[in-house]
Amino acid sequence: MSNAPSLAARLTLCGSISLYPVSLGSSMHLAGYRALGLPFTYVPFRVTDLAGAITGMRALGIRGLGISMPYKQEIMPLLDAIDAQAAQIGAVNTVVRGEDGRLRGYNTDAVGAVRALEEVRAIQGARVLLLGAGGAARAIAHGLAGAGASLVLANRTREKAEAIAQGIEGASVRGLDEALSASDWDVLVNATSKGMLDVDPGSPVPEEAIRPGTVVMDIVYKPIETELLRAAERRGARTIHGGRMLLHQAARQFELYTGVAAPLEAMDAALREQISLLAPAR
Ligand code: NAP
Repeated sequence: MSNAPSLAARLTLCGSISLYPVSLGSSMHLAGYRALGLPFTYVPFRVTDLAGAITGMRALGIRGLGISMPYKQEIMPLLDAIDAQAAQIGAVNTVVRGEDGRLRGYNTDAVGAVRALEEVRAIQGARVLLLGAGGAARAIAHGLAGAGASLVLANRTREKAEAIAQGIEGASVRGLDEALSASDWDVLVNATSKGMLDVDPGSPVPEEAIRPGTVVMDIVYKPIETELLRAAERRGARTIHGGRMLLHQAARQFELYTGVAAPLEAMDAALREQISLLAPAR
């Protein structure tokens, strides 16, 4: 006799809500559930009524939802509690329903960036030059500063970098040329969207500004090997591609939803396959 009805009865639902149809989370989470044989499933929802979706999450007992742009701020007042780091960042990209039915918001982009950089070097004491001042840069700035990095921010629109730096002890802001020529950074993080295939290709910094022995992390993941990372490799820097942050932020979501460690290899393989469909390797 099939055991399908009993399995279905205890199947836990997770998912994501976004305005857009593309979901990289779906393949990673499903691969993780499969690898560990967990009775979970994942559905990416395309949503225009955010409040209605959250009411639905409560009513249907959905365990966790990833939150994409443009909802990362708008969702905050709809929740019962916000994790301290997400509150500092001012954005939520993950909602988890507790056993008591309460919805708590988290920001796993920050921990994703921290774990991606930690794979390559210690963060405590690292001098980081962070390019960009959008939503991702804000999460990364709080994550890295919280893990002990000292931060210089540079952004095309300087005031946006200043607004982020104001909330982070010890962080400062410089113009890009000044920051690059000061040569007092160990880690360069590109958190701008410069480098995205078909949208804004190219590198956000001149190749000669990259010093051997530094670490260059690009959070742009489409393509996986950006112009910036190619230049960094030519210059003898260590590189971290945008897929690592994506993977680690999803792994943290996986832990929050399931309570167990994420199977990174299985999730990474699924992510790489998805990215290669979006941006075939050259
Ligand atoms: P966002 O809020 O729109 O911010 C974009 C940032 O890029 C702003 O600081 C903007 O500067 C800067 N920028 C855009 N075009 C530029 C250019 N041509 N030259 C210099 N600076 C430029 O976007 P976001 O959500 O922070 O995302 C930024 C990038 O990170 C996107 O490519 C996104 O796909 C990627 N991302 C990756 C991950 C991951 O896990 N790997 C996670 C989140 C986002 P202004 O302030 O002057 O406009």
